Amino acid sequence: MTPLLEMRAIHKSFYGVKVLQDVPLTLYKGEVLALLGENGAGKSTLIKILNGDYQMDAGSIFLEGQQVNFNEPRDAEKNGIVMIYQELHYAPDLSVAENLFIGKLPGSGLWVDWQKVREEAKKALGILNIDLDPDTLMRDLTVVERQIVEIVKAIYADAKLLVMDEPTAALTPPEVEMLFGTVQKLRQKGVGIIYISHRLDEIFRIAQRVTVLRDGKHVATKPIQEVTPGNLVEMMVGREIETRNIRAVTTSKVALEVSHLSKIGAFEDINFKVHEGEVVSIFGLLGSGQANLTRCIFGAERFDSGGIQVFGEPKNIRRPQDGKNAGIGFVPIDRKVRGLVLGMSVRKNLTLSNWAKLSVLSFFQGFKERQHTKTWIDALGIRMAGGMDVPVRFLSGGNQQKVVLARWLEANVKILILNEPTWGVDVGARSDIYDQLEILAKQGLAILVVSSDIQEVLAISHRILTIYKGRLTAEFSHDMASEEQILNAAAGGLS
Ligand code: ADP
Ligand code: MG
Repeated sequence: MTPLLEMRAIHKSFYGVKVLQDVPLTLYKGEVLALLGENGAGKSTLIKILNGDYQMDAGSIFLEGQQVNFNEPRDAEKNGIVMIYQELHYAPDLSVAENLFIGKLPGSGLWVDWQKVREEAKKALGILNIDLDPDTLMRDLTVVERQIVEIVKAIYADAKLLVMDEPTAALTPPEVEMLFGTVQKLRQKGVGIIYISHRLDEIFRIAQRVTVLRDGKHVATKPIQEVTPGNLVEMMVGREIETRNIRAVTTSKVALEVSHLSKIGAFEDINFKVHEGEVVSIFGLLGSGQANLTRCIFGAERFDSGGIQVFGEPKNIRRPQDGKNAGIGFVPIDRKVRGLVLGMSVRKNLTLSNWAKLSVLSFFQGFKERQHTKTWIDALGIRMAGGMDVPVRFLSGGNQQKVVLARWLEANVKILILNEPTWGVDVGARSDIYDQLEILAKQGLAILVVSSDIQEVLAISHRILTIYKGRLTAEFSHDMASEEQILNAAAGGLS
C-alpha cells in the first residue's frame, strides 16, 4: 500500500546546530501515528517542514506517492494537510458557520445567502455527528469545541492528513473523550493523523503506531502493540527510568489533618490525614472538587465548614497568608499563576520572598543570593541555558516547575500541596520532579498531590484517595493499589 505520507532522510540545521538528522516518517491512511520525544527532540520542526513553515536542508517528502515540497502552509493546506492548533487561529467574533466557510461564503458578490450558510454548516458538522449550533460565536466555544470546529472545517475542505500537536493539553477528561471520538470518525473516513502528546496513556488508547525522536534523530517506529510505556520512556530519554520502590512510611506523626471539610457545590465531608514523610495523592477526573479542596486547605479559597489541623493544632485558614503561616506550601496547576515572575531571573524568583532571611546588608545580598540559588539549582537539577540570570520565561515547563518547588522549600514549609505537578511537563523533567518529591518525603515533608494522571499517582504515592463528585470514595495503600480499582473508584463505582 502506498503510504499517505512518506518523509525520507530529513535534515535541518538552525545556525549550524543540527536539529534533525536523517529522520524518516511514514503515515498510512486511516491511522493515528503518535510522534513522541522530549522537549527539543525536533517534533515541531519536522511538522513545520511538512507543512511548509520551514524548508528542509536535505531529504524528500512524498504525498500519496507524489514528491512534494511546500513553500508555505497555504500550499500544504491546498494539498490536504491541516494543522489543528490549540489557540484561536481565526476571528473570535465569527460564528461557527462563518468560520467554517471563511473566504467561500455561498451567495454572489456582496450578497451572502445566510440561510444556505447555516444549512451547509449543519451539514458539515453532521459529517462527524457534531451537535453544535452554527450561530454560536467562536469565542463562546470551549477549547475542545473550537478544535472540533477546526477539524470539521478541515474535513469539509477534504483534508487527508491532520496534525495535532498536544491537542489535549488544556482539555478535561470528558472533553478528551469527545476529541477521541472525533479522531475515531476521522480514521474511518481514511484520514491520516499525526498525533503529538506527552501523555502516554492517550497514545496507547488512540495510536496504531509510534515514532520516537531523540536529539533530532529517529530512534524507532513501532506498532503500538510492540511497546510498553516503559519502553517508550526509555526510547525518549535514552536511559532507563527505574521503577520506584515505595515503602510504607513508618512515622505516625500526623502533619495535616482535614476533618469534615465541606464547600457547597465543590466538595463534601472530606476527612483524611497526611503523615510526616508521606506522599498522599487524591486522584479524580478533573473537576471532581479536588482543586477546590487543595485551594481551601492552603487558603486560596474559602470553605464552608469543617476544620484543618497542622501538627495537631487547629488552624483558622482563610487566606493564603494563613496557609503560609501554618507552614503549608502550594503549587497550583497553572504555571503562569504559580507565583513566578516570568520576566525575572531564576535567581530573583528564588530569592524574591526571602530577602529578609538572606541579609539586611545589601552588600552581601548579591553574593548570598548566588550561593543560595546555586544550591537549589544543583539540588533540583534545574537546567537552563545561560545561567541563573536568565529570565524564567525561557525555561522549559519542567524546569519552571522546579523553580516553584525550590521557592517553597527555601521558605521552609513542612507540608507541600501540589496540584497536577507535571501537567504539560515532559518525561525527563517529570522523572526529576518525582525523584525530588521522593527525597523531600524522605526528609520528612508531608506531601499532598492532586492528579488526574493515573501513572503519576501510582508512581509517587504512599497512599491514594479517590474523589468523585466532591466526595472521597476509596483509599488504597501503595501495595494494594491496582490501576483498574482506582479508575473505577474515581469514576464513582464502589470499590
Ligand atoms: P520539539 O517540538 O520536539 O519540542 P522543536 O522541533 O521545537 O522540538 O525543537 C528542536 C530544536 O530546534 C530545539 O533545540 C529548538 O531550540 C530548535 N529550534 C526550533 N525552531 C527553531 C528556530 N526557528 N530557530 C532556531 N532554533 C530552533
Ligand atoms: Mg514542539
